[in-house]
Amino acid sequence: MSEYDSNNVFAKILRGEIPCDKVYEDEYVLAFNDIAPQAPIHILVIPKGSYMSIDDFGTGASPEEVKAFFAAISKIAHEKGVAKTGFRCIANTENDGGQEVPHFHMHILGGAYVGPMVSK
Ligand code: 5GP
Repeated sequence: MSEYDSNNVFAKILRGEIPCDKVYEDEYVLAFNDIAPQAPIHILVIPKGSYMSIDDFGTGASPEEVKAFFAAISKIAHEKGVAKTGFRCIANTENDGGQEVPHFHMHILGGAYVGPMVSK
């Protein structure tokens, strides 16, 4: 990915052009339930800024954006009751990582054992 595609589905959600099942929002972050959940809890956490991937976010985001992003994950995990039982965060990145939507997102998966770390 060389350039942010403002027509990606998460950009449309951020602009309110398509709906989402919102879980959390603040100045820098939006989180919503995945449309095709792969665990009892499957939430997508996205920055409001136009970042393509975790690499792009790590390179270009401000300290405030980075802090808000990880604080949001923690808040959501506590609110959803998985902070104690456990959960997995996944940031699929580019081709080998299997990233489908080119706006950085972290999956939060939990509510039951989510299986081995990597399966093919
Ligand atoms: P990726 O493979 O890019 O890491 O994950 C993209 C995720 O976005 C998938 O889990 C997919 O189910 C989810 N997704 C794709 N389109 C939509 C949508 O319109 N709304 C929501 N809530 N999730 C979506």
